[in-house]
Amino acid sequence: AIEIVEHDRPPARLGQIGLRVKSVIAVGSGKGGVGKSTVAASLAQCLQRFGSKVGLMDADVYGPSVPHLLGLSGRPEVDENKRIIPIKKGPMPVMSMGFLVEPDQAVIWRGPMLHSSVTQFLRDTDWGLLDYLIIDMPPGTGDVALTLSQILPLSGAVIVCTPQEVALLDAVKAISMFGKVHIPILGMVENMSGFQCPDCNKHYDIFGKGGARDKAEELGTPFLGAVPINIPLRIAGDQGKLAECLDDDAIRAPMDQVARAVV
Ligand code: ADP
Repeated sequence: AIEIVEHDRPPARLGQIGLRVKSVIAVGSGKGGVGKSTVAASLAQCLQRFGSKVGLMDADVYGPSVPHLLGLSGRPEVDENKRIIPIKKGPMPVMSMGFLVEPDQAVIWRGPMLHSSVTQFLRDTDWGLLDYLIIDMPPGTGDVALTLSQILPLSGAVIVCTPQEVALLDAVKAISMFGKVHIPILGMVENMSGFQCPDCNKHYDIFGKGGARDKAEELGTPFLGAVPINIPLRIAGDQGKLAECLDDDAIRAPMDQVARAVV
């Protein structure tokens, strides 16, 4: 079993402590529910399909949805060297707080405990040699998100938002938060960007369209791509088959575009 110890001092930056990875990419959002975890997990899968070695860390401690999206369960074992053996999706090592708490249990740990447990996960997990570690960050710009973006050895951040004005305003706050802690913004992704009716082929801009592209331009931030509302993608996420649904070229194409833009 994994024991989570509460440190009485802030954890050190992790760059030097044996995480063997070329690039650590945070996926953040201003608001919850915009598809941050879906984009993070899909980005990891697409980078792996390009031939890279990729790990996925679910640091969304208050709502760890990566295990559900990828259909993963079980408890990570600890080996004789006290290294945590991550749960794997195919070749991809995945770690999540969701593996440690029961699905219907709320995480009610205090801030310092959360920060130390996330850093412990990152430090003590046997990730192997990676090209990319994708980190699904907690949403928002509160204490947890801010401290994690300071602690984690991030190479850059991808910001996910929907085209709605409220989501964009919060995305701007998230961009400013990463800026404050000197994490480069790799760009913005517009998720839930329009809907093509499968029956009549008519296009509906349910949450609006193009808002993130315009905002990215205004901020001088790269625009990484738009992912439309897609019913099979939602169903696959609900059924734990997100990785499998990316076999569908039409679903994968917009995610591939984002992945190509971050490499
Ligand atoms: P967040 O991490 O921002 O809270 P999630 O990735 O958990 O968001 O997504 C929230 C819900 O929206 C999930 O049910 C997911 O399957 C669905 N979803 C995300 N992106 C899309 C999309 N492009 N089309 C349809 N459903 C989506």
